Amino acid sequence: MGGETLNAGRHRFRVRALILDVDGVLLDSPHEQAWRDALTGLADPSRFTSRIYREEVAGKPRLQGAVSALKALGVGNAEGEADAYAIRKQARLEALIRSGGVRPFLDGLRFVERAAAAGLPMAVASASRNADAMLRRCKRSDGGSLLECFSVNLNGCDNGPGKPDPWIVLRAAAELRIPPRACLVVEDAPTGVRAARAASALALGVARSGDAGPLRAAGACRVVSSLDEVDIEGLTSGLWMDACA
Ligand SMILES: [Mg+2]
Repeated sequence: MGGETLNAGRHRFRVRALILDVDGVLLDSPHEQAWRDALTGLADPSRFTSRIYREEVAGKPRLQGAVSALKALGVGNAEGEADAYAIRKQARLEALIRSGGVRPFLDGLRFVERAAAAGLPMAVASASRNADAMLRRCKRSDGGSLLECFSVNLNGCDNGPGKPDPWIVLRAAAELRIPPRACLVVEDAPTGVRAARAASALALGVARSGDAGPLRAAGACRVVSSLDEVDIEGLTSGLWMDACA
């Protein structure tokens, strides 16, 4: 099988391309805060925890995320309230972005630069329509924008089903011209890990706040607390990423 080697009886996989989620992987973007702020009048914003954001909202198309969040918070008529909630969230997000509320995770920036230097093809795949504008504002060490590192860009691609459906991962792999099983999806949300696994891709979980359990349970082959831990040469040579069961 292409790209697969056996090493001491264990399956090792050579990663030939990366498919990266944006929010929570590359950018410390203010989606979570915007969803929380927009709850005013519907539920106590303090009940919208990071866990609810990661497990119910992250990675989903906006309206679907709104319904899931409202249901998780026990708001009556979640479907009926979701549209207005999603619109308020978007307005709040845009205000936060305008006021400089988007920062790259520095380990994410270094990871993309190391992968680009190693010639690893990369795709970005975020359900967020704001991802391009935010990535364009993040500068690499040579002054270029982070967005230019990706040969395939599916950000804001809203003509397919959202994660955990594998559609966006399969489309990214097709555009990269690499079989999904040789692609490594980098994700911070269980929903995104499930999308990767459903596409037969490998999944690397990023758990900066120590929440590795749900990512492992969703099928992440490996979970790191910083992308600085990832050895790019190890990835491409098949010595770093074990196959998932
Ligand atoms: Mg994410």
